Amino acid sequence: MDFTHDTEAALNSAAALVNTADSDGDRLADIAALDAFFTNYGWTGRHDHTESELRSVRALRPRLRTLWQSDEDAVVAIVNALLRDSHALPQLVRHDDEPYHLHATSADAPLATRMAVEAAMAFVDVVRSEELSRLQICEFPGCGNVLVDLSKNRSRRFCHAGCGNRAAVSAYRARKAAEAKGRAPS
Ligand SMILES: [Zn+2]
Ligand SMILES: [Zn+2]
Repeated sequence: MDFTHDTEAALNSAAALVNTADSDGDRLADIAALDAFFTNYGWTGRHDHTESELRSVRALRPRLRTLWQSDEDAVVAIVNALLRDSHALPQLVRHDDEPYHLHATSADAPLATRMAVEAAMAFVDVVRSEELSRLQICEFPGCGNVLVDLSKNRSRRFCHAGCGNRAAVSAYRARKAAEAKGRAPS
């Protein structure tokens, strides 16, 4: 199963946005952090650099997170509500050397609105291709980050925040500890 490049980009961007609300500190703490996110995830169009923009983007995160934690019917209800609330109108557009892709809001709509609609449009594809199982929560204990498993063999279990490495290290330590215990005199 391959999603189109814009759907994959939108899913990764939505996951990254959700994951900025980290339990050990908000990684969208200020306008500079939002600026960095905007650049890193290839956002274009209106960007106000204001506290109110930052507030609305932060407020979108819990709503997007529920997309990872709901069954299909609930996901559909959220997606439809996001599209309805934003008066989404899908249009094929081309800009900044990107090939034609869908935008369902205009480039001058508020950033949080565009983020909501872009995520919703990507989830439309996920639901239609019956691939909701690609949306997972990181398995590393205590992490809770969301992830999008786009791997061919659905093998991704950990988020990009270093949990894969952490899991490998703890597995290694557990193995060493078990070996040391095995060697200890009884
Ligand atoms: Zn675009
Ligand atoms: Zn993780």
